[in-house]
Formats: sequence, C-alpha cells, structure tokens
Amino acid sequence: MAGDSKYDVVVIGAGPGGYPAAIRAAQRGAKVAIIEKQKVGGTCLNWGCIPTKTLLASTELIAHAREAEKFGVKIGAIEPDWPAIMARKEKVTDTLVGGILQLLKANGIDLIEGTGKITKDKKVSVETKDGTIELEAGNIIIATGSDPAELPTFDFKQPAVMTSTDALALDHVPESLIIVGSGVIGSEFACIFSTLGTKIVMLELMDRMLPTEDSRVAKQMKSSFRKQGIDVRTETTVTEVLEYKPDSIKVKLSTGDELEAEKLLVSIGRKFNSAGLGLDELGMQMDERGRIIVDQMMETSVDGIYAIGDVVGGILLAHTATFEGLVAAENVTGGNAHMNYHVVPACIFTTPEIGSVGLNTDKAAEQGIDVNVSRFSFGALGKAMAMGEDYGFVQLVINAKNDQVLGAQIMGPHASDLIHEVAVAMKMGATAEDIATTIHAHPSLPEAIMEAAEAAHGKAIHVAPPRKK
Ligand code: FAD
Repeated sequence: MAGDSKYDVVVIGAGPGGYPAAIRAAQRGAKVAIIEKQKVGGTCLNWGCIPTKTLLASTELIAHAREAEKFGVKIGAIEPDWPAIMARKEKVTDTLVGGILQLLKANGIDLIEGTGKITKDKKVSVETKDGTIELEAGNIIIATGSDPAELPTFDFKQPAVMTSTDALALDHVPESLIIVGSGVIGSEFACIFSTLGTKIVMLELMDRMLPTEDSRVAKQMKSSFRKQGIDVRTETTVTEVLEYKPDSIKVKLSTGDELEAEKLLVSIGRKFNSAGLGLDELGMQMDERGRIIVDQMMETSVDGIYAIGDVVGGILLAHTATFEGLVAAENVTGGNAHMNYHVVPACIFTTPEIGSVGLNTDKAAEQGIDVNVSRFSFGALGKAMAMGEDYGFVQLVINAKNDQVLGAQIMGPHASDLIHEVAVAMKMGATAEDIATTIHAHPSLPEAIMEAAEAAHGKAIHVAPPRKK
C-alpha cells in the first residue's frame, strides 16, 4: 500500500463489479485504491460463476464419457475423483485471482486488504489486520455484492444445511441432497451432483421450476431434469425441520410428506451487502431489503458516492456488475456514461444449457406487445445430431409490426455461446430478415438461429410446411 492515503477514487469490494471499475478509473488517469475483505474476484471467481463452471466442466466430461459407446468409443469404467475435481477447481480460481492481483498492480492500483466503511466526510475507514486506517476519497464506488440469503426455517450452523458457498467446499459427494429453490443456482448444483450420483429432490414454491424463465423453457427443463433422475417438486416447500442429525436432516414438506437426506442446500436468492458500510448515517436511499438505489449513471442519492453490481439489485450477474462498474468508473473520472439494460444475456449452465436475452413470450404477453414467436428445434439440425445433442430449441421473439428481434431463448447445446449472436443482432436493431439473410456456416449450431429467423417468414428449409387440406 502506498504511504499517501488520498485517492481520486476508492472502490469498496473487488468482485467482478469492483475490480474492473478500479482498472477503468486508473486507465482514465485516476489515483485508485480498492478495498477487499476476503478474496479479490469476489463471489464470481471464488464462490460463484467460475467454481461452478469448473465443476460442471468435470461433470459434463463424465456425462459425455458415459455416452462414449454410442459414439463408437470404448473407454472402460468411469470413476469420478471428487478430491481431484475440487483440486482442479481451486487451481482454476487461484490462477484467475492471481491474474487480477497482477492487473491491479500493473495499473498502479493500491489493494487494501480489510473491511471498508464510509464515514461522514467522504472518508473511508478500513479495518485491516494491523489496525484501522483512513483513506480520503474524491469519489467512492460501493461494490460490496451479495451473500446467500438464508431462511429462518433452517439452522445454518447444522452440518447438513448448506448455502451455495458451503456446497462448493464439500469434502465428499453427498449420497442424497434436498435443494430448496429451483432457480439458476439450485438448478446448476442439481446437474453437478446428479451426474456424480447424488439422489436429488428439488423443491420449488412456485408452480414451475426456473420461475423467471420463459414458460416453455421452464416446462421442457423440468422434463429434462426428470429424465436425468432429478425429482423436481413444484408448489412444494419445507414447512419444518423434524430432525437434525450429524450426517443428515429430516424435513416435513407442505404436501405433508417427510423427507430425509444427507444434505440440504438452500438456494432461494441473495441478500444485498449494504449493512455495516455506514450508509444509514449518510442518509443514503435504500429499499427495505437493503438494495442501494442508484440512477442511470450508477450514482447513489449521496453526491459522489456510486454503487454497482449485486448490491444495487436488478440483474444479479457478473457481466452486469462489470458493465455497471465501467459506467461508474467513467462518471467518477469526468465522463458522462449511462447504464442501459436493454440487451443483457443471461445463461444457465445446466444440462441442457439455457441462454436468453431481451423479451420472452411471457413478458411480451404481460406488456401487451404484439410479437411473432418463431422456433427451430435442434432435433432438425445436422450439427446437433452429429454431436449427439439434438435436444432443445431456439425461440425468437420478434416485433410483429416491424420484424425487429426483441428477444430470444435458446435451450440446447452451447446455448450460452449461441445467445450472443442474438444479443449483437438486438444491439444493432436487426430484424429477423437480417439474421435469415446472413449466410451461416454449415454444419454449425448457429444455423438453428438462422432457421428460426427464416421460420418467422415461413421460409425455413428444414421445417415441413403445414399440410395442405
Ligand atoms: P461480489 O462478487 O459479491 O463481490 C463483492 C466483494 O466485496 C466480495 O469480494 C466481498 O468480500 C467484498 N466486500 C463486501 N463488503 C466489503 C467491505 N465492507 N469491505 C471490503 N470488501 C467488501 N453470474 C454470472 O454472470 N454467471 C454465472 O455463471 C454465475 N454463477 C453463479 C454461481 C453461484 C453459485 C453464485 C452464488 C453466483 C453466480 N453468479 C453468476 C452471480 C455473480 O457471482 C454475481 O452477480 C457477481 O459476483 C456480483 O459481482 P459484485 O462485484 O457485485 O459482487
């Protein structure tokens, strides 16, 4: 840490929101300090996106290997090695964390390890292991993220009860697992552990799993999960814990059934990390759940203090946090940037994957927007057949008035990559005709997007026309 404690910009929290904000502010000539109380990279790198995707890379390989004979390849017994899988996960995250530390240093940013708190006069105090230090800030960016939300029904001190962070530190694969909540995080863990042989029951309070996704996607996902042996129970929750044992938990469900499992994972959402930052004393505007209210420039109700990422709520994704961070960094260094949430791809790394962007069919109906919905199934696509992954579909939501693409949902192979073609198209204001008349390489997965766009005008080559009477 530098001896001088006066900075143009002080960033609190070094997750995927905070560290890019610090780097962009430094690139624009500011003297920057970033404070981190745990690990650089935040939730995303240490307890979220990257560790889950690293585990999924192992379990997807296992799933493929089990199918090897179908592809004419004999590979013998397949034996998952959990300690080795976890060691690989650690190596990947450590390498990425090391990369960020180097980037911060190379950009001349002071990393201060400790817990930051804003004091009244735009000063930030940091409790470090060597005592409290005080920094003076021209502007402050709060990027303190979120933590797993807990439910009062459960005692999280019991070894059987887990948050997503606990699940990423397990020393063995549980024999059985109850997952409370069928959102993105719960669904990804269901795929990881079910491939490893864990017997899973997934509970969802709402009438469908993945309640925020397009209803067709959610419905097909439920049937895909059931085929994978995951017992998805909608309109069901835990009403009480009947017994905590050292190596299991027994619960009563809203249906009256009783259920016992080795572990129970609570994945019902996130809580915003705004407490303890001194924000009440500053009179900062927050909602009843502690979400910091910001304007389009990411500025809070207190002059010169900005907030970004999970702590401002909205779309709780790493890439949203990063973009909000870049907008805030521009603005604290004399820029005039505004955040636009029109095109934000969101991906779910389940089997099969889901990628979505913009408007879905449910939202279009809710908002009374007249749309054409056009689909193409991977079952009719050569590349998907060749890969042995011909499950799912591409769905385009198209403005009925002017043919502009308003959104897309993709469920199937590499959906998390494919969705970006539609994202760029939307950003450019493209029409379905624009996509349909762009030559796509054959055989490739993006051809499914082209065919869905062609289908919007009744021109898809690989879709049989309606039968003539
Ligand atoms: P965080 O990443 O939470 O970082 C905040 C940082 O601030 C933390 O390091 C914390 O220690 C630090 N901090 C907090 N308070 C203080 C303080 N007072 N002083 C100093 N430091 C402080 N998103 C995706 O886009 N794709 C995915 O695949 C994906 N998968 C996920 C899987 C899981 C299991 C989870 C839990 C999340 C996942 N997410 C994913 C969401 C993503 O991780 C978050 O949206 C993202 O990390 C938010 O970034 P952030 O910078 O706002 O906050």
